[in-house]
Amino acid sequence: MSNELTIEQFLAIGFEHAAFFDPAQLDFRQDVRDMCNADKCSHFGKNWACPPACGSVEQSVEKAKKYTHAIMIQTTARLEDSFDFETMMQAAKDHKERFNEAAKLARSFDPDCLPMGAGGCNICRKCTYPDEPCRFPDRAFTSMEAYGLYVAAECKKAGLEYNYGPNTLTYSSCILFN
Ligand code: SF4
Repeated sequence: MSNELTIEQFLAIGFEHAAFFDPAQLDFRQDVRDMCNADKCSHFGKNWACPPACGSVEQSVEKAKKYTHAIMIQTTARLEDSFDFETMMQAAKDHKERFNEAAKLARSFDPDCLPMGAGGCNICRKCTYPDEPCRFPDRAFTSMEAYGLYVAAECKKAGLEYNYGPNTLTYSSCILFN
């Protein structure tokens, strides 16, 4: 069933770049996960989709083992200059929306697929963690970094750039599936 998913379907969602890769290549690293502890994004220990609630690096490895296919999907925006915050914010919004569409598409082929996002989950104004269960478990995606993946290296393995040059901004996510 998974071979019915095509790069063209993902590009049609709006992504600038997409490439299939072998999920066995993914390298889940404790040192990457440990960067979350610095809590630069203010989600650590406050969100179901982030550490520690999203599970350990060992659990990431176990989850990923189940999958035979993966796709890397990227939104690349061209900035007027390095202060073009409007385009930066639009790119983040575009990538989130596209990623949700991509997850829907992948789930239509493999309902148990594993989407890994970019950034923490901010669907709810205030996350229910830790008092109540997640309100939207089907839409709350854990980021690649929180799984322990060094995104730049994983993009390279998929044959894609992480950075497409001066005055560009790229968001990368991936989906594992069978
Ligand atoms: S969907 Fe809401 S409750 Fe669930 S992780 Fe995201 S912010 Fe938290």
